[in-house]
Amino acid sequence: MPLVENGMLLPNQALMLAAATWLGACFGSFSNVLIYRLPRNKDVVRGRSHCPSCNHMVAWYDNIPVLSWLVLRGKCRHCRAPISPRYLAVELAGAACALIGIWRFGWTVEGLSASFFLLVLLDIALIDWEHMIIPHTLTIGGAVAGLVFSFFMVPSLPTALLGGAVGAGIILVVSWGYKLVRGVIGMGGGDVMLMGMVGIFLGPLGVLAVLFGGALLGSVYALTAGRGSVAGSAKLPFGTFLAAAAAIVLLFGRQLLALYLSHI
Ligand SMILES: [Zn+2]
Repeated sequence: MPLVENGMLLPNQALMLAAATWLGACFGSFSNVLIYRLPRNKDVVRGRSHCPSCNHMVAWYDNIPVLSWLVLRGKCRHCRAPISPRYLAVELAGAACALIGIWRFGWTVEGLSASFFLLVLLDIALIDWEHMIIPHTLTIGGAVAGLVFSFFMVPSLPTALLGGAVGAGIILVVSWGYKLVRGVIGMGGGDVMLMGMVGIFLGPLGVLAVLFGGALLGSVYALTAGRGSVAGSAKLPFGTFLAAAAAIVLLFGRQLLALYLSHI
């Protein structure tokens, strides 16, 4: 279904994109809950949000994605304690994930799958960056959803399963090798599960590209932000770079492959 005709966005398609953006912002709002509670082992379903300063429950009308933060100008309604702009940023990022997924692949299973995958990657990237943890809730939940999506997509379930096995398998082998040589565990179970999930969504070739891209992004970060040495790489949140690489491969994989093939 074309989104644009003669350079103009079709009205019904514009409405679809607006709906996707709003849904994405709502999921972004839930991402804020996941990002805060999962690394702290708190229940993500039960327990209403409350202000950490005055403990007031956040009313539904103060919990509307993006709008509430703007109306309240980033302050609690009761005690005026500042609410981090990070909440707004994650809601906007969630909206962007859904908008990009639907814009790129349309209101199709592919579009829904891409939007969901981008949202999970966003949560994983932010949690690993801050806590150096990749919660199994997100990777296993994402993997199951990815398998369900793959039933309705081409390439289908076998490719997804193969991708998952390749992704998780490579990290397992590297991790074992590292342990044999250095005597310590280099990459944890979180990385294994993450790459398993990424493989399910992107297939065996995609997951290899993600591994390469993640290592590249991590190295560039270590060399620039990490005071010019790779020695600190043991402390790198590798999951964040893998998640970023997975988003790039999802959206630009074909173009990057074409670019690469045209230069060899
Ligand atoms: Zn308050």
